[in-house]
Amino acid sequence: MLEKRDYYRLPWSMNDNPIAWIEVTDICNIHCEGCYRQYMTGHKSLEQLKEEVDFFIKWRNPDNFSIAGGEPLIHPQIIDLVAYIAGKGVKPVILSNGVALTPGLLHELKKAGLAGFTLHVDSHQNRPEWKNKNEKEHNALRQRLADMIAAEGGLFLIFNSTVYPDTYAEIPEIVRWGQANLRKVQGLVFITYRTATTEDQFATDQKDQQVDLSKLSYTRDSFHQHFITAPEVHQIIQENFPEYEASGYLGGSIRHDSYKWLIGALVGNAHRMYGSVGKKTMEFAQIGHHLHNGRYLAYLTSGRIGPKIFWLSPWDPAIAKARANFWRDVLRHPGRLFQDIYVQSIGIIQAPDIQPDGRADMCDSCPDITIYDGKFVNSCRMDEYRLFGGFVSVLEKEKQETKANP
Ligand code: SF4
Repeated sequence: MLEKRDYYRLPWSMNDNPIAWIEVTDICNIHCEGCYRQYMTGHKSLEQLKEEVDFFIKWRNPDNFSIAGGEPLIHPQIIDLVAYIAGKGVKPVILSNGVALTPGLLHELKKAGLAGFTLHVDSHQNRPEWKNKNEKEHNALRQRLADMIAAEGGLFLIFNSTVYPDTYAEIPEIVRWGQANLRKVQGLVFITYRTATTEDQFATDQKDQQVDLSKLSYTRDSFHQHFITAPEVHQIIQENFPEYEASGYLGGSIRHDSYKWLIGALVGNAHRMYGSVGKKTMEFAQIGHHLHNGRYLAYLTSGRIGPKIFWLSPWDPAIAKARANFWRDVLRHPGRLFQDIYVQSIGIIQAPDIQPDGRADMCDSCPDITIYDGKFVNSCRMDEYRLFGGFVSVLEKEKQETKANP
């Protein structure tokens, strides 16, 4: 059981948050089962996007822009947008499924100032040539994309995957692949799947009027499987990779005991992982970056950190443990003393979960907030605004009937 006192509560807030989430289009070239977005309006104009960038810079103090969608690589002015963001001194990061990525486009994006990619790959994306392939088999696709980005050089790379009940057990296969690609992959993110169901759920809008839940892209007729939580993802990683331990977290907006974001970083070299950074290092990274740059930190631009990470041993017992493992390894394999030391992050995000009163427990200080109608809105729930004018409440049908006829 995780104890909050063992982890550093990330100091992010609405107005001082390292991530700005900007959506350039709601069109996509594949259809992922867990996707929160659907086609309603198409590509945004470059003018509108520039206004959104300026709005974020004024109100959010971001260290990076997560350029999302839909699929951002199919936006005709994606290179201009990247250049505009980079020109403001903020890191542009593209969140993509990688389908439209080519070495030529990659080169142009890098020239425009792109800092890196978060690529979404998992086995529930309905990619035509990857149907019926499991997560382990999808590592071949991850490899192809990682090799392409490494060949361009100078861009960081994170892979994210949605975790479904039937892919939960395969998480270690992705982590194992990530560790084998430590030089090319700076991080992995696992996002737990959420769905709404029309069979047993009833939704109302802000005026307490019933709405048609089936209009949301992630609604299914029925779903009788377990809702996976972030601590469960943490557990399966730790069972298979005992050196992994999260160091930072974000709790819930309603529940005191939920973990909506869990962030950790492994320390190792090409041969093995020695341990993880602890909460003191996470605190040091956030506070140090803010003191130095005036902003908190979400992405390291390079995983190659070198042995200087071990200097934090006096303050961080987790780093001291990793350092001891490193020296034990060096005694057995002296050549490893001169090998580069890397950090590789593993982030876990728990999707909004509906509480018994119909509200959703969201991420405290939501890092993936975006702009809708001149206001900040959690991006994972923006379609509730677009379809129903605001957040909806979702109750079990049985409870709704009791509420209507007490
Ligand atoms: S609340 Fe924010 S951070 Fe959490 S899943 Fe939704 S968009 Fe992402």
